[in-house]
Amino acid sequence: MYVITDDCMCCGSCVDECAVGAISEGDGKYVIDTDICVECGACADACPSNAIVQE
Ligand code: SF4
Ligand code: SF4
Repeated sequence: MYVITDDCMCCGSCVDECAVGAISEGDGKYVIDTDICVECGACADACPSNAIVQE
């Protein structure tokens, strides 16, 4: 699964990259709803701080 680490700087870029709307703003960082995420990896490629990682 893909997760967003504390390296997130809340730029919001990943939200528009996600075709299924799995990313939203959380408390201090953005979060991925793993029930919705289809693990395409598009958000990870778009994150300028490499905060989205696969676990
Ligand atoms: S693109 Fe990266 S830094 Fe920007 S909100 Fe998403 S996870 Fe955070
Ligand atoms: S891996 Fe794909 S489906 Fe999952 S949150 Fe990122 S862009 Fe959305």
